[in-house]
Amino acid sequence: MTAEYLQTPIEYLKGVGPHRADILKREFNIFTFSDLLYYFPFRHVDKATVYKVSDIQSEGNYMQFRGNILGYQILGEGRSKRLAAQFFDGTGTLDLVWFNGIKWIEDVLAKNHTNVLIFGRPTLFNNRWNMSHPEIIDPTAPKENTITQHFFPLYNTSDKAKKAGLDTKGVAKLTAALLLDLKQRILPETLPAELIANHHLISLHEALFNIHYPENQEKLTQANIRLKFDELFYTQLKMLKLKLLTERKFRGHIFARVGESFNYFYNNRLKFELTGAQKRVIKEIRADMGSGKQMNRLLQGDVGSGKTITALLVMLIANDNDFQSCLMAPTEILAQQHYENISKQLGDMEVKVALLTGSTKTAERKEIHQGLLDGSIRILIGTHALIENEVQFQNLGLAVIDEQHRFGVEQRAKLWKKNRIPPHVLVMTATPIPRTLAMTVYGDLDVSVIDELPKGRKPIITKHLYEKDRSQMFYFLKQQVDAGRQVFVVYPLIQESEKMDLLDLEAGFEAMSRSFPLPRYAVGMVHGKMKNDVKDYEMQRFSKGETCILVSTTVIEVGIDIPNATVMVIENAERFGLSQLHQLRGRVGRGGEQSYCILMSGNKLSSDGRQRLDAMVATTDGFEIANFDLKLRGPGDLQGTQQSGVLDFKIADIIKDEKLVSYTRELAKRILEADPNLSSPENKILAEQLQKLMSREKFWGMIS
Ligand code: ADP
Ligand code: MG
Repeated sequence: MTAEYLQTPIEYLKGVGPHRADILKREFNIFTFSDLLYYFPFRHVDKATVYKVSDIQSEGNYMQFRGNILGYQILGEGRSKRLAAQFFDGTGTLDLVWFNGIKWIEDVLAKNHTNVLIFGRPTLFNNRWNMSHPEIIDPTAPKENTITQHFFPLYNTSDKAKKAGLDTKGVAKLTAALLLDLKQRILPETLPAELIANHHLISLHEALFNIHYPENQEKLTQANIRLKFDELFYTQLKMLKLKLLTERKFRGHIFARVGESFNYFYNNRLKFELTGAQKRVIKEIRADMGSGKQMNRLLQGDVGSGKTITALLVMLIANDNDFQSCLMAPTEILAQQHYENISKQLGDMEVKVALLTGSTKTAERKEIHQGLLDGSIRILIGTHALIENEVQFQNLGLAVIDEQHRFGVEQRAKLWKKNRIPPHVLVMTATPIPRTLAMTVYGDLDVSVIDELPKGRKPIITKHLYEKDRSQMFYFLKQQVDAGRQVFVVYPLIQESEKMDLLDLEAGFEAMSRSFPLPRYAVGMVHGKMKNDVKDYEMQRFSKGETCILVSTTVIEVGIDIPNATVMVIENAERFGLSQLHQLRGRVGRGGEQSYCILMSGNKLSSDGRQRLDAMVATTDGFEIANFDLKLRGPGDLQGTQQSGVLDFKIADIIKDEKLVSYTRELAKRILEADPNLSSPENKILAEQLQKLMSREKFWGMIS
């Protein structure tokens, strides 16, 4: 069976073996033949066309040329040893250079110097066109395989993989070997014949061959369409089916009453008037919670729009109906802060709140477990520690997830299981995403939006300064600090060179400490490598106003709320993504004072970097930023969505393929409306395919 054959472990593919298998698994998540088959190239190089040297207009494109080698010589010694050759095709010359495999190239060149084909990427060096490590096509070498290679696939790869010979060419060899093996077989189809015919799609078999090694441009286009169709259609079908199942199956707790704790808090403890948007959202949530069905709602609101207080009010309604609630945050610092804020806001009220994180001590943990079971703890706040199995509630009625983009669907599902009747679920996010995207990613959730900031907020003034203007920044900070304000200074973390990053951060801290010396000023520092208690201590000091400047990495990125902090300085701002910059900026501007965001960058900027910083200066609107971000980077890069796998499309592009997104959604909807269980014969293949997709996620096990 071809289906079983596709599940063969990747080490059994010709040319792989245990070491490379290990790399393929770790670097690319390729475990089986099927995984490799679905490891699509990001681009193809046209090897059918032979260009002229005079055709070269810019750097960066792979091109093929035919011409003569005028001469070559070996230069340098040791590591700089290289073979340099001159290539001429009648329209111009190219300097060729090889640093590796010199012996082999020399042999090839000794045999052929006229009418050779070379292939590579021309770059400009000292004003001359140059090509390093061109592929030289030796006409005397035996043909490697019979897969057509007019369009050569380029694959994403990594440094580690390259060391094991898995550069883009190495990967291409593997896909070629696999396809050669699959030529005698027919790959199983994933769509009903009628649907394929109606939409003029090519077969899955043909699509998978052509996506790697297309016969021609048209086949490549068709392969793209077919595979995008599959991906989007099944995503939609899955989402809609889930929505259907949750609506049908899950009875929800009815929160009928708004009682003492809500009213007391609202009338006596709430320090400000809710915004219209907050009131509207609470109404929407109340309607859900009174409907008898389980609520699954997404609450979107820009940073600082006041999602937390909204969640707290809803938790109090749960309490008034004799249910417990929990609030899950993505980081320990954030959980801690929610705990402190909420405890402070509740003040003398008799609603017991507890904090549970990874670093909660055993004795305390036991006490919390007990308090949850006997119902004395009414609100539990924590990190993902609160979804662990030992954590059991007496009667959990509502689960709130803060900054949803950090969590995957699976974590959401685990919360469902915390009660016999699943609790109402409210997920909150500050990452605004366009509508089509939201429908696809959160298709199973209803959406509420807080589209209004609390009154009296002054828009944050954003400025971009170059390194050469650093003294201006110091001068400005001095004014602010002397006026009693506090300042965040954030450094980027780049994973590859953690040590270097830490040095940067420490140097920054020292520079600040020198400019703002004790005893008059105090500067603090936090980073991810610190012990938790040290980190917390530093955060506390800043939060209490004992330090005036906090130098940190992005550990403070999400959610932290310190109203007296009015300046956010972002160092090497060009290295941050747009939505991350926006999140960071959202850490200031929370009190009544005018706040500022200063983006520091190197004197030289890439065009992308400049566009991002310009966008930050131009607008403080999260939706505008998100749209711009999508255009600039593509959705796969939307912060957080990648880690949580919610937008893990292999080939579809949710923005560029927007029409196909809506089309497949409508199609999936029509099919499910006519046949909700997909039980009719013509939908058999859909049911099977969906079952397969569902069983991959634990989530689905429980509802199907
Ligand atoms: P986010 O939506 O980013 O999570 P928070 O819930 O942290 O925002 O709220 C940001 C700040 O605004 C907090 O200090 C909160 O107390 C305050 N806040 C929330 N709602 C209002 C309101 N209606 N009026 C004034 N301040 C508010
Ligand atoms: Mg928040």
